[in-house]
Amino acid sequence: MDAGAIQLPRRVTKRITVGEVPIGAGAPISIQSMTTTKTADVEGTLQQIYALAAAGCDIVRCTCNEVAAAEGLAHIVPRSPVPIIADIHHQYRMALAALDAGVQGLRLNPGNIRKVDHIKAVASEARDRNVPIRIGVNGGSLDPELYEKYGQRVTPEAMVESAMAELDYFDQVGFDMVKISVKASNVPLMIEAYRMLADATDVPLHLGVTEAGPLPEGLIKATAGIATLLAEGIGDTIRFSLTADPVEEAKAGRVLLEALGLRERKNVDLIACPSCGRAEVDVIAVTQKVREELADKELPLQVAVMGCVVNGPGEARDADLGIAAGRQRGHLFVKGQNVAVVKESEMVETLVEWAEFISEHGTDAALARVDTEKAAKEAEKDRAALLDEQGVDANKSGQRVELIHKHLDD
Ligand code: SF4
Repeated sequence: MDAGAIQLPRRVTKRITVGEVPIGAGAPISIQSMTTTKTADVEGTLQQIYALAAAGCDIVRCTCNEVAAAEGLAHIVPRSPVPIIADIHHQYRMALAALDAGVQGLRLNPGNIRKVDHIKAVASEARDRNVPIRIGVNGGSLDPELYEKYGQRVTPEAMVESAMAELDYFDQVGFDMVKISVKASNVPLMIEAYRMLADATDVPLHLGVTEAGPLPEGLIKATAGIATLLAEGIGDTIRFSLTADPVEEAKAGRVLLEALGLRERKNVDLIACPSCGRAEVDVIAVTQKVREELADKELPLQVAVMGCVVNGPGEARDADLGIAAGRQRGHLFVKGQNVAVVKESEMVETLVEWAEFISEHGTDAALARVDTEKAAKEAEKDRAALLDEQGVDANKSGQRVELIHKHLDD
């Protein structure tokens, strides 16, 4: 079955727009990230924003923690290729300054702007300017009163209560251009909080695992939380919070959405065999080389790197294109059919050429341009020679099967 045809469910929500980017009500799930520069450094921040946009980021958040940052935003917003959200902590006046700077969105943390008058002042101003706000609850900076109320613990209930109270204040001034996040660094806590929130409101949700940490651990933690919720249909916009170059956050978001079939594939989906006793090349090194060669090419294909021609083309028959090694030669295959055989030293560059051709003309055109029978014969020759050399049980699986029976019979 074509896995791409399976559609994950999507929760029905209200729709807001951040600049030109729609969020919720079936809009494509958008990717967010945050700059790590000082916002007052206009050129440095814009460079990072451009790099993020090129990596697939739809919306970028910049901190607005001081007047110089708000001034920076006034210069950044008109030159940014994507909408800018100002991140506000503690000082509600910085939210008002960011609105004056022309930002397309605000993020408020209800845990550290707690005066109702201040919250309402910001919401009223945002309402008048048609600028949406994210209510960004964070487990690490939960409202102290709620922390006490829930037994000096951060619980999903406490996080949801914080978000809903803020939503109520917004409602009192007639402001509803809202999305909500209830992030925590503890993955099960964050998952539960979002599930409760999804039951409590139809406001669009921004997903994230806060302070997920460095690569690769952070990537795994963030994916565990975000992917679990997306698979349940929860989530309208996402951010990976990694201790890394923010471009890695944007890439991670894009790869995750593509993997879940929630975003049209733009880049290569590289698959590779794990290598085994039959491998005829260093699969890890060849895969790395292919990855580097294809990194900057936007080719929406699945490409396979397989260690041997004995099993490779069959195991990866669903890939658009693949390469399998055998007897110092590289066997190229398209949708499981052998199309060419080249020297091992040329197999990566040939793979890249074919990937570019297929991306432009499709797999049928690629199959039509060569003598597949001749290529299949060559592959069969190497396959037979390898089976002859290695035997049919190159991984010595038969010995293990014998061992299983020996122990079962003892
Ligand atoms: S049998 Fe061949 S293609 Fe399969 S894992 Fe082993 S080396 Fe890779």
